[in-house]
Amino acid sequence: MSNLKLLNKILRLKGMKITRFWFKNRSKELHLAVKPYKNGCRCPECGRRGRIVHQTTEFRRWEDLTLMGLKVLLWYAPKEIHCPTHGRVQETIPWAPAWSRITYRLEWRICALCQIMTQKAAAEILKMPPSTLSGLLHRIITRVRDGHKIRALVTVGVDEISFLKGRKFATLVYDLDRARILWVGLGKGRQTIDRFFNECLSEGQKSRIRWASCDMSRAYTGAIKHHCPNATLVIDRFHVVKALNQAVDEVRMEQWRALDTEGRKAIKGLRWLLGMHSRSRTKGQSRFLNNLRNSNRRIHRAWVLKDEFEHIWNYSYRASAEKFLKRWMTAALRSRIPSLRQFVGTVRNHFDHIVAFTDRNLTNAVGEGLNRIVKIVKNRASGYRNLNSFADMIYLTVGDLNIPAHIPSGLRTL
Ligand SMILES: [Zn+2]
Repeated sequence: MSNLKLLNKILRLKGMKITRFWFKNRSKELHLAVKPYKNGCRCPECGRRGRIVHQTTEFRRWEDLTLMGLKVLLWYAPKEIHCPTHGRVQETIPWAPAWSRITYRLEWRICALCQIMTQKAAAEILKMPPSTLSGLLHRIITRVRDGHKIRALVTVGVDEISFLKGRKFATLVYDLDRARILWVGLGKGRQTIDRFFNECLSEGQKSRIRWASCDMSRAYTGAIKHHCPNATLVIDRFHVVKALNQAVDEVRMEQWRALDTEGRKAIKGLRWLLGMHSRSRTKGQSRFLNNLRNSNRRIHRAWVLKDEFEHIWNYSYRASAEKFLKRWMTAALRSRIPSLRQFVGTVRNHFDHIVAFTDRNLTNAVGEGLNRIVKIVKNRASGYRNLNSFADMIYLTVGDLNIPAHIPSGLRTL
């Protein structure tokens, strides 16, 4: 067997043959001059054969998978052809996408590694600078997602997430039926969410959305009401509970500020305890909270109201839930606690959409589950420098498109 044939077998090169090889950089790089096996040059757009109009002499270089630590580089001078439909184009290259500087195989490995580890760790394995890897991944994902159409969206979820250590925000759009993330956009305002509805969905698609879930921000609720005329909006339960917990915590902080050292000691560790769901508390913890009735009436009142509020989620009839919520709001107003009165105001603004959970419980376990994955992805690189790399990792791990599946199947060797 000749050297070239042996190399071809070892490297498992498909659709190409090696014409020459040489080593470079103190034998750390293996360079291969290759050429595609084919009968005629084909158009990258339509795959039809074209007449060669120009024998390009300019060689292009592709990086391939490493071989035992050796960097492998492919060289070939693509020809220009004339396609009857697409005119003058560069012939298609079987081992790499158009304009790419790396082979499909390397693209596949980048995707496979980044799905399970940090970009930094993947960069180390692939022996390339993290910024290079991040750039390559971005190009893959942009190419695969280019022209992608969202399919059969019925239940949409909108949520915000912070990145860059809380200094920047992004808006995430979910398909809650499929448990996938459809879109990531910079910012959390109305403009951001409008961009999604205007750029990604047709009028017909918008009218086919039946359910929508989001937090209580006017940006999201406003956009959903405007763009999805046939959707029932359900406020995400998680956000209602979060707002109530914040209101209760404000009472605790206000008391903390007013108390002396001795009094503060008595309500120490309360922040965490007040935020707990009644089911997760121990008997001792509940007793401690009950004892507040004598030591700190105001916190006690706020806590009792918070615990009572939990019952709303047990209702399955809209009318009963409404009745309960109205009674609860009256009681909360009577407490004369400013932060709770403010919460009642928020609830009043979203009343219909909060009790809408009785129509369909969108209190999205799905969305929250996805959020957890997004957080893992976020923590993997402890702060991305920009939205692009953060968004890329989201699309790669929980996006609605299977990115690696778009790399030709014969070229996915790991
Ligand atoms: Zn063509």
